[in-house]
Amino acid sequence: MPIQERIDSVDRVRQWTDTIPLKYVYTAGVAGQLFFEWLKKGKIEGSRCDTCKVTYLPPRMYCPQCFLEVHSFVHLANLGKVAALTSLGDAGPKYAFVTYSGVRGGILHRVFSGKARMGAKAVAIFKPERERRGSILDIVGFKIL
Ligand SMILES: [Zn+2]
Repeated sequence: MPIQERIDSVDRVRQWTDTIPLKYVYTAGVAGQLFFEWLKKGKIEGSRCDTCKVTYLPPRMYCPQCFLEVHSFVHLANLGKVAALTSLGDAGPKYAFVTYSGVRGGILHRVFSGKARMGAKAVAIFKPERERRGSILDIVGFKIL
């Protein structure tokens, strides 16, 4: 095909319809998977770098400070503190970022109490055991104490 015909044929193609078969599986990673398995059991666990003595929530497999693999996991008492609050409008649900003493990170989830305030103590409320699926939604939300 002469070059001008090829250019003309390219100019005529403005669009075409087709599909791109994209399939993917997004995993939570090793530490994330453990985190969700513990949630299914009604537990909140973090990972602890034995070198830096820092506990992370959600747990991590590698310490971002020293870049070493983390091998220790620790059970956290179900008593956190509201570190940040937000809401979806005046009448909308409130969400809190709840942190735990001595832990870097936290959990963002719904709050059930209108009296939520910064620094308030918060307890995670879990679904009944038979309804848990190993997801962050195994926590229904936080109750403010
Ligand atoms: Zn470390």
